[in-house]
Amino acid sequence: MCGTCCHEVPGDYVKRIPLYPDEADILIEIAKERDIEFKIIEDLVFPDIKNEKILVLTYRIRLDNENQGCPFYNEHNGCRVHENKPLACQAYPLALKRVDAFNFEISIDPLCNFVIQHYSELEKMDLGHLKEVFKEEYPKAENFYHKNKKLIFKIKKLEALKKILIPCQINLEEFNIYLQKWEREDISV
Ligand code: SF4
Repeated sequence: MCGTCCHEVPGDYVKRIPLYPDEADILIEIAKERDIEFKIIEDLVFPDIKNEKILVLTYRIRLDNENQGCPFYNEHNGCRVHENKPLACQAYPLALKRVDAFNFEISIDPLCNFVIQHYSELEKMDLGHLKEVFKEEYPKAENFYHKNKKLIFKIKKLEALKKILIPCQINLEEFNIYLQKWEREDISV
């Protein structure tokens, strides 16, 4: 309810609230029904140079210009899409940390108010205790992790079947041209 996780934070850190294409569709529908201005930005994408497409694995919520927060946040009632909020929000303050292009691990967001207040206790805890402290969030973080893994696996399988081709390395200039020209394809599981 504090809403810190639904807003930009001061400093260099960029707030990122990721959502999968199916979650994005649900929130777009809700926003339309309730006349809420809601926009998303592509987040994790891969260029498929075989089919000249940009494969979109995740989007992120574009924060409101005025208060730099999620448009679904309300200061009196908190999240207005509680039943439909993205897995990333359900799991918070547990988050997925990107290790490299294809690998993620579960981490704890150090910017969460609860984490800041209990940092010295949390840092000494083993995984078993952390699972108890975050007993509602941990299973959501696992779902989040598994969904991500399935998506990455799907990409790798399509590559192995030679249906797509993701370059191992790409220069930024080239990638920007692809981003401007190529069609999008959502990847879902
Ligand atoms: S969907 Fe709900 S919990 Fe998630 S950032 Fe928006 S207001 Fe916060």
